[in-house]
Amino acid sequence: MPTRLKPILKRNLPERDVLRLGDLANWRFEGTPLAVVGHPVKHSVSPEMHNAALEELADRNPGFKDWHYFKFDIEPERLREALALFYRNKFKGLNLTVPHKILAAKWIEAAEPEVRLSGACNTLLWTDNGYRGYNTDLYGMTRAIEESFALKLRGRQALLIGAGGAARAAAVACLTHKVGALHLTNRTREKLDPLVEEMAGIRDDIPIKIHQLAGPFAISSRHLIVINATSLGLKESDPAPVALKGLHPDTKVLDMIYNPSKTALLKEAESLGMRTANGLPMLVFQGERSFRIWTKKSPSVQTMFRAAVDSLAE
Ligand code: NAP
Repeated sequence: MPTRLKPILKRNLPERDVLRLGDLANWRFEGTPLAVVGHPVKHSVSPEMHNAALEELADRNPGFKDWHYFKFDIEPERLREALALFYRNKFKGLNLTVPHKILAAKWIEAAEPEVRLSGACNTLLWTDNGYRGYNTDLYGMTRAIEESFALKLRGRQALLIGAGGAARAAAVACLTHKVGALHLTNRTREKLDPLVEEMAGIRDDIPIKIHQLAGPFAISSRHLIVINATSLGLKESDPAPVALKGLHPDTKVLDMIYNPSKTALLKEAESLGMRTANGLPMLVFQGERSFRIWTKKSPSVQTMFRAAVDSLAE
């Protein structure tokens, strides 16, 4: 529990790290609450990242001293009910994580175009008229690629693996930043086909190509970025979702997974001499933009990064 909170607020802070729907029914925290909502959510490092940035901000601006970021485990079938309670209890901002991003996008009435285009929403802002939806994963991924590889998406070939919420955000980011071509692959066609159709509707001037997950990928470009947006790799024992052999050694590989820090895909990429990045920079940059949406202030990216790394090391 942070020491900066006033005693009255500390008294009203729940003791447990992971909160549940029942905690919302009798919510007594008197500060300004923020939260990440997922299922499961135990391993999220967002509270550490945001609370470190809030603490730093409060040192310069006492108006933020009573802000605090919580962690809620909510089952998908209770999400709608929970969102009404978060709103009633004036949670200023929420981050939605697996598996809520696509569900929430369907329910939020007011949303930024990025939510409508991707069909996924990871950030909510409390307004007088209800929550407003954003998807800061687009910004997070784009900035992560710029920072990690010192390059822009524009004109590059992108091979995107996956068709879930994260892949949808990544696909929209690739198209809005005008990649030269978007290559899509997924384990099953069930989610891939609607994704391809929706993405083709966003820009008809960028070729979208479908590939088999098993490859081989007939992409000879040296300007290729491979993005893993599947959950394959979350377990240490998971194999890589695709084989990279045959792709140009100048290929850059971004795995959205950050824990473990080096997936089988990143290990294979390194063995082939390719440059790699895990999902930590993306996590920090999406968090940075969410923080700005809620507070209208810029947090220190370094502080957020350090807090995330420290928390993962615990
Ligand atoms: P999701 O909506 O549940 O989608 C999961 C995707 O993974 C689907 O495409 C699914 O394929 C695929 N998949 C699952 N198991 C697989 C397997 N055994 N083999 C091959 N493919 C498999 O999840 P999401 O929200 O998109 O998240 C995806 C990943 O991105 C997660 O690891 C998440 O932690 C990460 N992520 C990271 C950040 C960050 O800031 N770094 C942000 C967002 C997400 P099917 O369609 O065939 O089921």
